[in-house]
Amino acid sequence: MMNVKCPNCNKKIDDSFINLRSLLADCQRCGTNFSLSPAFISTYHKPHLDLKKPFDMELEKQKEKVVFSWRESSCLDWIMMPIAIAWLLFPLGFIIQQIDAEGFSTFTVTELLMVSLFLLIGLFLICSSLLRLMTTIRIELTHDSLSVLYSPFGIVRSQTVPRSDIFQLYTSESYRTGFIGPSSFVKQYSVYLLRFEGENGRLISNLSDKKKALFLEQEIENFYNIPNRRVQDEIEV
Ligand SMILES: [Zn+2]
Repeated sequence: MMNVKCPNCNKKIDDSFINLRSLLADCQRCGTNFSLSPAFISTYHKPHLDLKKPFDMELEKQKEKVVFSWRESSCLDWIMMPIAIAWLLFPLGFIIQQIDAEGFSTFTVTELLMVSLFLLIGLFLICSSLLRLMTTIRIELTHDSLSVLYSPFGIVRSQTVPRSDIFQLYTSESYRTGFIGPSSFVKQYSVYLLRFEGENGRLISNLSDKKKALFLEQEIENFYNIPNRRVQDEIEV
């Protein structure tokens, strides 16, 4: 990820051989142990971006605490609702037709399976859109920790990271994945966390607004005085 080369044999150093806390690296080929120079690290710094707070985001800034919050829904969820409802009308219409005629006994097994499948997909679409329309994301920064909280149903996705674990944040782009697979026309943005040690991972997932992701990345780095280093896989601005 960091694109570091051995000063002795010029081999590209694997991420797992770079200690970001001590800023030391080991060459896996010739065994040379070397420190990442401040000059090297500074070439990986990105310029500050002039980003404004997204219009749909609330921002509370206090001395010891900063809180960002916004609703998770995107315009896609609003579009999805009528589509999902229309989708549900198909099997419902079919059932009503059958009942009117001769009752449930006329369903064949195939028909029952098809109707159930249609109903399940429709219900899944409605529930996932409704959930996103209801969900509020809240990010709380204190000098001890960073928390990402989803309410009202967010126990699984919520997370808290100690400040001392945070090395770097970066924003990456992907395509939105739906139940029919990734769609190549809707992009989404996630803010990733690089830790000093342990698992790196996604901090905030699937934002539809690129500027919101970049704004969050920059604000969090500013609050914690983290220099904005370049990271492979991040989006170019
Ligand atoms: Zn080497």
